[in-house]
Amino acid sequence: MYNNLRFIPEFSIDELESIQLKGLQWTLNHAYKGCMAYRDKLDQAGFSPGDFKTLSDIVKLPFTDVEDLRLGYPLPLLSVPQEDIVRIHASSGTTGKRKILAYTQNDINTWKNMMARCFELADLTPMDRVQIAVGYGLWTAGAGFQLGCEHFGAMALPLGPGNLDFQLQFLTDLKPTCICSTASMALLLSEQVVKMGLEDQIALKKIIFGAEPHTPKMRQTIEKTLNLEHSFDIPGMTEVYGPGTGLECLKHQGMHYWADIFILEIIDPLTLQPVPAGETGEMVITTLCKEGVPLIRYRTRDLCRILTESCPCGIKMPRHDRILGRSDDMIIFRGVNIYPGQIAEILEEFNDISSEYQINLNRQKGLDFMKISVERKVNASSDNDEKLAQRISARIRSKIMVRTEIVLADPGKLPRSMGKSRRVIDERNNT
Ligand code: ADP
Ligand code: ZN
Repeated sequence: MYNNLRFIPEFSIDELESIQLKGLQWTLNHAYKGCMAYRDKLDQAGFSPGDFKTLSDIVKLPFTDVEDLRLGYPLPLLSVPQEDIVRIHASSGTTGKRKILAYTQNDINTWKNMMARCFELADLTPMDRVQIAVGYGLWTAGAGFQLGCEHFGAMALPLGPGNLDFQLQFLTDLKPTCICSTASMALLLSEQVVKMGLEDQIALKKIIFGAEPHTPKMRQTIEKTLNLEHSFDIPGMTEVYGPGTGLECLKHQGMHYWADIFILEIIDPLTLQPVPAGETGEMVITTLCKEGVPLIRYRTRDLCRILTESCPCGIKMPRHDRILGRSDDMIIFRGVNIYPGQIAEILEEFNDISSEYQINLNRQKGLDFMKISVERKVNASSDNDEKLAQRISARIRSKIMVRTEIVLADPGKLPRSMGKSRRVIDERNNT
């Protein structure tokens, strides 16, 4: 399926384990020497870097989390002298204070390679033209895609997010074959292409979308509307360089991740113990060669599971499933814990509605209420709205035990986003 890989290395399990062990030992020494906060953390855990003898020792290491980044603001967990830092990036700040991460030149090179591997997995060639429609500047997204695209040898069209007219003009004039954007932006673009009747004037074959969870329905809609050959989910986060910690392969059965660059553990967020192989839990990441801000058992708060079987595409790098969402996204509604992804999954079952939904929470007379707005599918009649709303509501009640009010909207009526969509609007503390 893949021939002559230029960027993705092939390791046997033994080779990979040896790279991971050496990388972990290096990281521990490096962080201990270079960063007071890490030294204190390891000392408190009674762990000195020399104690680390086998990979299974990883469970003895203390965790790092977003609080460690916050405490060290503005340059948290910096582990090299400042003169070695060549760049900073910051997270988009979806949840709380912005995280600022610092990069050495080697870190930038590692990231560049990771991203080039992603383009290789997406099976691009130097003939491809890649429209990069994600945020540039402080954010990692634009910088990461561009670094990787140029290193891979394809042509980067660095448009950034927003400005639909401009995006459409480039789509028709320069005929990019691939777009990198959020799924929300891709949906908006696809709707716009149809509205303007540009289907025959574009040459798009692939979309790489990341930064937010998306449902299979959303993806199918985009693929069908734009007549794509493939679309790929790309995971990543600012703490671990940026986008490109892995990518789906052409088989689309989960995402291969770069296990020679970081170790991925999945833990139970309550007990903090590793979950049994293949079960869902919180992703915890330990970097193996990151210099500026190494991560030791960093709790990402993202929920996911490792796929344990080998992939039919033949690539040996391990895989994880799509990211289900963040543990911070959990809604506590009348005492029930709910993830927006669970609701999205139920909505997937209904063919008469589109992929778009919005959850509104408010409080009346001390009681919580949940309204879920969904869109009727294009060309579907509104005559059945009432019955459909009842069916959806009943299904949600039976699956997650909560009462909801379902409101059907005309196609295209829910807000569209050029970045990450906001699916939950919680006004319970304002009422
Ligand atoms: P933040 O949004 O926390 O400010 P980032 O801009 O670095 O920080 O975004 C990283 C986060 O975005 C991840 O931790 C994850 O929650 C989410 N994310 C990134 N890629 C994906 C993806 N492919 N699927 C689902 N969620 C994703
Ligand atoms: Zn594969």
